[in-house]
Amino acid sequence: MTNYICIDVGGTTTRIATAESSERAEITIVERFPTQAKYELQLEALHSILVQIGQPAGIGLSLGGQMARDGRSVAVAPNLPDYVGQPLVETLEQRWHCPVRLGHDTVCGLLAEKNFGALQTSERCAYLTLSTGTGAAIFLGSPGLAISIEIGHQVLDSNPLICLCGQIGCLETCTGGRQLEQRLGYELTRIVDHGFWEQYCEKLAIGLVNLAHLTRVELVAVSGSIALKNEFLLPLLQRKIDERLLNARLTLTSALLGENAPLIGALALLQTPPERILH
Ligand SMILES: [Zn+2]
Repeated sequence: MTNYICIDVGGTTTRIATAESSERAEITIVERFPTQAKYELQLEALHSILVQIGQPAGIGLSLGGQMARDGRSVAVAPNLPDYVGQPLVETLEQRWHCPVRLGHDTVCGLLAEKNFGALQTSERCAYLTLSTGTGAAIFLGSPGLAISIEIGHQVLDSNPLICLCGQIGCLETCTGGRQLEQRLGYELTRIVDHGFWEQYCEKLAIGLVNLAHLTRVELVAVSGSIALKNEFLLPLLQRKIDERLLNARLTLTSALLGENAPLIGALALLQTPPERILH
C-alpha cells in the first residue's frame, strides 16, 4: 500500500504520521521523538524511522519557522537555528526519490483548516495560533494564495518592550506565551486575574483589526494552547474587535483540527501547487 508521510517538526517534539492519500485528512501517527537541535542528528532520526515505514509516495514537512522563498529550506527559526540554510528538501528528495514539500507550521495549519476544517467556505481567511509565539498565515482568493505572515512582529505604538526577535514594540511581547512567562516569572495557566486577559485581548484585538484592514481577511480560525486552555478568550477577543473595527467584519472561530492541523496541512502541501504558497 502506498504511504504518504507527514512530519511536524515542533520546537520540542517531532511527530510523524502516515496517510494512504494526500487528498484526505485521515492520518495515523506512527512515531514521536524529541526534536534534535542539531540538524544532522534530526536527519538521522528521520531516516531511521522512514526506513521502518517503507518507501514513501511523498513527504510533507511542517516546521516552526520561516521558509526560504523557494520553500526548500528554512530561513528563520529562532527555536532551531542549526536548521537555517540547510538543504532539507533536496536531501530528502535525493534519499527517498519522491516529492518532498516543506512549509511554515502556520501555513500548514491554514491549509488543513482551509481544506478540511473551519475555513472551507471562505476566500478571505486566516489561521492564528496563540501559543509560545503568536503566529498566523492568511489565505486570499480562489483558487487562492496561502501566505506566511509575521503577525506577532507587527509593532504596536507606545509599546516599549523588546521582543525576542530584537525589535521594540512587537505584538508578541504582549501575547506570546514564552515572552509573557519570562516577564511574569510564572506559567500563564496560573493566571486567573480577569484584568490580565482583558489586557491580553485588548492588544491582540489591535493586531487583528490591523490584519483585517491590511489584508481584507474576514474569517480567522484560532488555535494554540493559550486559546484551547481559556475558553472565554474567543468571545472576549471578538467583543474587543467588534468595538474597534469599523467598515469591515472579522469573525473568529475555533480551529477544528487541533494539534493534528500541522500534520494534515503538511500532507496537503503535496496537493498544493507551489505557486499557490507564498513562503
Ligand atoms: Zn518581534
